Amino acid sequence: MASITITDVSKTYPGASTPSVADIGLQIRDGEFIVLVGPSGCGKSTLLRMVAGLEDITGGEVRIGERVVNSVDPADRDIAMVFQNYALYPHMTVRENMAYGLKNRRTPKAEIESRVAEAARMLELGPYLDRKPRALSGGQRQRVAMGRAVVRQPAAFLFDEPLSNLDAKLRVTMRGEIRRLQKRLGTTSLYVTHDQLEAMTLADRLVVLNGGRIEQVGAPLEVYHNPASTFVASFIGSPAMNLLDARIEGGRIGLGSTVLEPGQLSGPGGPVTLGIRAEDLIPAATGLPFRTDLVEELGAQRLVHGHIDGQPLVLTLDAAAPLHDEMRLSVSPTKLHLFDTVSGKRIETTGPARQPLRQDA
Ligand code: ADP
Ligand code: MG
Repeated sequence: MASITITDVSKTYPGASTPSVADIGLQIRDGEFIVLVGPSGCGKSTLLRMVAGLEDITGGEVRIGERVVNSVDPADRDIAMVFQNYALYPHMTVRENMAYGLKNRRTPKAEIESRVAEAARMLELGPYLDRKPRALSGGQRQRVAMGRAVVRQPAAFLFDEPLSNLDAKLRVTMRGEIRRLQKRLGTTSLYVTHDQLEAMTLADRLVVLNGGRIEQVGAPLEVYHNPASTFVASFIGSPAMNLLDARIEGGRIGLGSTVLEPGQLSGPGGPVTLGIRAEDLIPAATGLPFRTDLVEELGAQRLVHGHIDGQPLVLTLDAAAPLHDEMRLSVSPTKLHLFDTVSGKRIETTGPARQPLRQDA
């Protein structure tokens, strides 16, 4: 096992005018589970493939443990990769697929057998060892791909969207299996996904990428509760955080006809982006004037879509809570997020004595 240290790493593909990955710095601790998350094309696979050695590094340095691996062959990096398409050999049995990498490394036969048996036991693949991949379900194939990585006993696992080909229910099951397996083995892991829920549930820390750059690094809940930018705020969490055009005047936030008093707002006035999570909006006697447009029933909860002063807003309500076409909504001042309208960066607000919402006449 090992740490992975990524220092100022960039990648510009031949002929491209802009880098696909730019100035990435990241320290992955020994045994840590890191998830790279972001929309399609943001550079997740490129970064992962540079760590794996499948892609040349244009600038910067990758270390696995103490060793700089920039020019080390992928086979000599002591990592194991799991891909979305499994990449199993169709003509080999499950046992042979799992043993193949070890055989190539001239691992003694008895050692191969015991490692394959152990992996098969952990992944509940025992009954399928003599089958070919075509006789397996998608979930079982994914498990074989995991097994092939596990038997290698590598310093690190690298995963590129390994669950994307599975149906929604199986994805949830396999997600849990991967997490349990990683915890048990304690193997340093770098995992790529575009799925924010997968990122939230798997990661010790997640790394949000946007256009080849890091937007934010942090524990899932830290990122959820303190998004560093509007990009992160709208990407992490479902439904996406409400982002509203507001203004700061005399240390208070104006939103349409309503004035919010979060207290101690210093700095110049002017336009600002106000972020509020759907679950932080509470129906109340006074507050933001909300008009309902559409209700989506989720079972235990419902998503209520509507408007305040012409701006779209969504809130989550318990299915049992009363529903009206027109409601007033309150939000705790501690649940307000402010972002710079131009840069999208979070504006840190301080102030011990934040006060509740007030409706201006
Ligand atoms: P992600 O995995 O986040 O979807 P990728 O790392 O695959 O994103 O791609 C990041 C960017 O690099 C994209 O703009 C993509 O078009 C570009 N890219 C990826 N692979 C290549 C390649 N082999 N040659 C040129 N451009 C590439
Ligand atoms: Mg990708």
